[in-house]
Amino acid sequence: MDGPPIEDGEISIVNGCIAGLNSGPDADATDLGNVAIIPGLVNAHTHLEFSDLTEPLTPASPFPSWVRSLMAQRQQRPSDRMEAIDAGLNESVATGCTLIGEIATDETSVTRLSSETPRGVVFREILGIGENVAAERLKIARRHLFPERTASESDILRGLSPHAPYSLSADLFRQLVDLAVEANATVAMHLAETQEEMELLRSGTGLLVDMLKDFGVWRDRFWMPSGEIGEYLHELSRVRRALVVHGNYLSVDDIELLATQPQMTVVYCPRTHRFFGHPEHPWRRLIERGVKVALGTDSRASNPDLSLWSELQFLSREFPDVSEDCLLRLATLNGADALGLADVTGSLTPGKSADLTVVQMSGGPEHTSTGPTPLSVISSENHVVATMRRGQWIHR
Ligand SMILES: [Zn+2]
Repeated sequence: MDGPPIEDGEISIVNGCIAGLNSGPDADATDLGNVAIIPGLVNAHTHLEFSDLTEPLTPASPFPSWVRSLMAQRQQRPSDRMEAIDAGLNESVATGCTLIGEIATDETSVTRLSSETPRGVVFREILGIGENVAAERLKIARRHLFPERTASESDILRGLSPHAPYSLSADLFRQLVDLAVEANATVAMHLAETQEEMELLRSGTGLLVDMLKDFGVWRDRFWMPSGEIGEYLHELSRVRRALVVHGNYLSVDDIELLATQPQMTVVYCPRTHRFFGHPEHPWRRLIERGVKVALGTDSRASNPDLSLWSELQFLSREFPDVSEDCLLRLATLNGADALGLADVTGSLTPGKSADLTVVQMSGGPEHTSTGPTPLSVISSENHVVATMRRGQWIHR
């Protein structure tokens, strides 16, 4: 992220931090073999509570039917999500992830993150449409943002996730944003995700209306008055950092608004986007306009696994015209920046934490008269073999 790749590169690590980058070989260094060392991968959006699912929930469309499956699934499952969360964290580590943006419906994941797992920013998910639920939901949000801290969780950052326009009253949304401003916390919100959401906001009709009525939570015109995504973005621009999750249906105007807000990042979840069959995602247009884009897997309820490495391979396959530099940046530095940790991680920069992903390369560089030819790191034959966080192997 800081410069061109270094052939026979060597990283010196002191006290868990990157002390220097050199070109080897060096007899005193640990030789990792024919590998590429890249910054630790950042999964900017997932829900670990569904990590025990063996395959995505169906039907994928229409979206409200998928939400109904999700709700049914939630009710069937044990209230203790510890095992699922641990499975998700283990899978993340094994696929090279060193930082995760986790959407949590209780405080379990806060207790499962440790020095052996990726770092985490835990966003407490809040929903609520009825007038009488707002006070209680705000209390939960406040308790999450201002906990009685213990020393062991010093690595965990806490944020808020007002769930989505179709699950949250405008009043509660505004109050959550106020609270995040007060706590200087990062906010993540599912926004412009589906056609059904856009229809609800635009005309107050569609399958989400039926779903909310069936759930017994419907209220007339509960969303932001204009029904525009831009109004949500404008409100979110008040917080220190905001993640616009999905953004599948962002308009040209929304993108222009985001281009003026460097503290906001759009999180694109490539394989989840494909799973739901949405039209083309505007991520390349966003990048062109200078909007920051990061990557997420979303949960195993819409993705077969939690591997950000697989997201990269998917993008590299589907969009061969986009450079690997660009893709790697989305998966590392941009994610760290979105989650407020770009000073600490996200690039192989002296002074930052030694958070590394080691990729086994299937071939070596070919030398020609003009020097080595560029190698494809994100090739389908290459895979993650080791993960280091703060100078310690957490997977090898
Ligand atoms: Zn999500």
